[in-house]
Amino acid sequence: MPRTINHFINGQEVAGRGTRTSQVFNPATGQQSGTLPLATTEEVREVVAVAKKAYPLWSGTTPLRRSRILNRFLRILEERTDELAAVITAEHGKVLSDAKGEIQRGMEVVEFAVGAPQLLKGEVTENVGTRVDSHALRQPLGIVAGITPFNFPVMVPMWMFPVALACGNCFILKPSERDPSASLLIAKWLKEAGLPDGVFNVVQGDKESVDALLTDPDIAAVSFVGSTPIARYIYETAARTGKRCQALGGAKNHMIIMPDADLDQAVDALMGAAYGSAGERCMAISVAVPVGEETANALVAKLEAKVRELKVGPGTDAASEMGPLVTREHLERVRGYIASGVEEGAKLIVDGRDLQVAGHENGYFIGGTLFDHVTTEMKIYREEIFGPVLAVARADSYETAARWINEHEFGNGTAIFTRDGDAAREFAHQIQVGMVGINVPIPVPMAFHSFGGWKASLFGDHHMHGPEGIRFYTRLKTITSRWPTGIRAGADFVMPTMQ
Ligand code: NAD
Repeated sequence: MPRTINHFINGQEVAGRGTRTSQVFNPATGQQSGTLPLATTEEVREVVAVAKKAYPLWSGTTPLRRSRILNRFLRILEERTDELAAVITAEHGKVLSDAKGEIQRGMEVVEFAVGAPQLLKGEVTENVGTRVDSHALRQPLGIVAGITPFNFPVMVPMWMFPVALACGNCFILKPSERDPSASLLIAKWLKEAGLPDGVFNVVQGDKESVDALLTDPDIAAVSFVGSTPIARYIYETAARTGKRCQALGGAKNHMIIMPDADLDQAVDALMGAAYGSAGERCMAISVAVPVGEETANALVAKLEAKVRELKVGPGTDAASEMGPLVTREHLERVRGYIASGVEEGAKLIVDGRDLQVAGHENGYFIGGTLFDHVTTEMKIYREEIFGPVLAVARADSYETAARWINEHEFGNGTAIFTRDGDAAREFAHQIQVGMVGINVPIPVPMAFHSFGGWKASLFGDHHMHGPEGIRFYTRLKTITSRWPTGIRAGADFVMPTMQ
């Protein structure tokens, strides 16, 4: 029997009251594991009211106390990583070791946020004028919302809420309806760590609940991660309703392989970056761009052998390198992209479409797929596939490869493999992409730096976590003060200037 999944409001699990639900599946078996309530607008309004009530106490709590709660939460995460990873794998499908990796990257943001007292220190200038002082401080925004995608049900919410909470905001999480259960464990563990009720809430839902958050006058800011069309919609709607917004979208990440690169290293890097998590990562490499025919021929030969050897199986099997895709619809979508690549004339070197995993015939499995001679007009080059499909696009020169990247709609991540410092430096400085790797295939910034792409991969001014996260979740106030001995007699009718 599928279990009923709840919301988490005001410190406890709450059953949904609406009539609409959606189904949650185990992607390795194709079995329905849960039924999810989809919140109504009215339910969302009630959650916002709960957060609003909790806000004065939380925003007035000292940064040091907030930090101690996050520190206890961190200890809980360390002790219960296996439990959380199992929940991720059961609904997302990724292999357990990868689920643990995602938790680790999320925990690093909590570690960063524990530094709240240091991070929230303001600026002071003594004597901006005679006996006049100025200080600038960062205050929380109020109630903020996070709307997150299926592919990192723990890490992506953790890009947001640890920083938001550390800054003194209340947070409402609207997780993906594909893998919502991890969010409930997080909510329970935050409470156990000492977070007051109502400060962190989880509302399960779809477009209706997202729209309710976007139009609620008490929501001050929205953080979003997901596909580009929805990111654009979130950004436009949030702007219209006067909210601060950061909306991260899709990606098509290229990796250039220069003729002087260590080819074995480049191939190993590509295997992990293209096929890890079945390609369902916004920082996955989906286009390999070897420079020169010789590099391309050698690269494709080495890749082909490795792609054929990929071990695909359930995420709970320690031998699996890659699990299933998240849903049956997504599996069909990825299969459709492979068919379109063949129709448009790309050379299909390894076809993963017919893969069967014994004992898991109803799971959403697909094998690693490799295309060669992909050109920039093809749909499989232009669009994000979000599956284990690597396109090799052969470039005649570094300039051509860099131009392709710069002209692409997306600008999330990119990498170059080379031994040439000049080429690497030119690439890092000129390329129109937000996160760049030099001999690093997935250049995800650490928690104390900030994460975000350019172009259609991010709408808004702020990247996530790190210093940009602190700026996003606070607003600046500058106070100018003087005391009776510094005040001159008489009224001033001219523009105030400091003397
Ligand atoms: P998605 O856009 O379908 O869903 C993301 C969130 O938006 C979910 O919570 C969903 O409920 C909500 N949503 C969906 N349709 C909506 C609508 N019409 N109106 C309002 N809300 C809606 O994305 P997904 O399939 O869950 O995730 C995969 C996508 O996320 C990929 O495109 C991937 O590149 C992207 N992603 C980007 C980053 C990044 O850092 N740029 C990170 C992770 C994932």
